[in-house]
Amino acid sequence: MICNLCTSTDSRPFLKSGTHELVQCSHCGLVRTETFRHGETSYTGDDYFKIKNQYVRHWDDFLGMFRTLVAKITEHLPPPARLLDVGTGIGILLAAAREAGYSIQGVEVSPWAAAFAREEKQLNVVAGTLAAASLKSGQYDVVVLNHVLEHVENPRELLAEARRVLADDGLLVVGVPNVASLMLSLMRGRWASLRPEEHIWHFAPATLRRLLRESGFSEVAFEARENHIPQGWGVKALIIRLINFIAVQLGLGEAMLSFSRKTPTRKVFNYEKTNF
Ligand SMILES: [Zn+2]
Repeated sequence: MICNLCTSTDSRPFLKSGTHELVQCSHCGLVRTETFRHGETSYTGDDYFKIKNQYVRHWDDFLGMFRTLVAKITEHLPPPARLLDVGTGIGILLAAAREAGYSIQGVEVSPWAAAFAREEKQLNVVAGTLAAASLKSGQYDVVVLNHVLEHVENPRELLAEARRVLADDGLLVVGVPNVASLMLSLMRGRWASLRPEEHIWHFAPATLRRLLRESGFSEVAFEARENHIPQGWGVKALIIRLINFIAVQLGLGEAMLSFSRKTPTRKVFNYEKTNF
């Protein structure tokens, strides 16, 4: 496999997870699922949204989580503004953004999830990839890629398209799991956010920041926090809460969230000259 960050094919073993092998690029450090099998995870039906992830049943819980994320977006770029959520799933984040006063649009590869968002929640969502949506250049103030980059074959290409549809000085919001997290160090191949059957790329702060910088974005804020706060106060939940607390203090939380601005074209780091 070719590294999406630096185009090298050199790699060293990183870790094993079930039947999958993860390797790390010898040049830039980006981790990838070398044994990734397209089609192993299907997003087309309702299984992914109803069974593997219980987004439909837990809509209200996720809505609470996404209200927090939207509040952070508001700190950087308040409504009224035009917000595009790429990989919107059943539209929970979009619903929170609409509630906050953003003018919203979603793009989702799963036709089932896009139809659910439109029909059950009256959200403006088109089915397909961002590239296939052929959106007009510069028409969004905010583009959100929340837990999307790690799933796609070519994150660079997706970021280039996200940049094209963003207005000058527009805000890009990227959330991805942190493969340099304390939880990964403890859980190794059993880390819940690893998902090698879904995730091709596994970013760490350095690799995510380099990718965003080279894709024409300037960071304005960055955090690595806990991904899910466990339910209840049982022994297991307490241990996870304690690990999360320590991890966040150390900047080693399992979910990275980056806010960056579209860099004016003249400052783009040779990206147009690079053939990916
Ligand atoms: Zn590399």
